[in-house]
Amino acid sequence: MNTPIILGIGHLLLSAPHSVDHARNDYIKPKEENTRKICIKASQYLKGTVSALVWKWKSRITMYDPNYTEDESLESSPWYQKLKEHKTQYGNKAKLIDIHGMSDKRIYAISPGDAACCDMNWSRRFDKALEKYMPDYSSNHIGALCGNWGSGLNTVSQMAMSLDIPAIQLELNPSTRKILIESSAEFQKFINFIREVADS
Ligand SMILES: [Zn+2]
Repeated sequence: MNTPIILGIGHLLLSAPHSVDHARNDYIKPKEENTRKICIKASQYLKGTVSALVWKWKSRITMYDPNYTEDESLESSPWYQKLKEHKTQYGNKAKLIDIHGMSDKRIYAISPGDAACCDMNWSRRFDKALEKYMPDYSSNHIGALCGNWGSGLNTVSQMAMSLDIPAIQLELNPSTRKILIESSAEFQKFINFIREVADS
């Protein structure tokens, strides 16, 4: 079974629940390319500030979609347990950015979903930091990608919210993910942005 692991050390957790093909209801959703790499690379650039929550095996399919966890399965979810560990370790400093890959059909490059954020001041600072460090990337809040299903189901951001961890579901389109991984200059912009939101 593919299990989640936390790599690196830091109070800001970057997670990538959809980095492998995953089952949701009766169908298999394809992996969101580069999301795992972005989390791990950020944890290596920002040691002591960022840790990464990722699937242990990058090539295996998972039959469990953490971003589609029913209320009654919360406690038994290995992702929820990892978030709990994170909260125990970092207390009030703990934060989460849950990295996802939205499709090219979306009109923006980046969408920060804050409907499960539990700290709207942090969300506002998050948007400001995006504008400051990544002005060449169009960004806006997309309603369908807000990070909160409502009742009965939990996103990873909602799991964090239930543990009092401020969380943003950060959606990146394919070309944004690709350029962050392929260009060190572009990744450095992302790192500057992450560094600012980690401690704001
Ligand atoms: Zn996703």
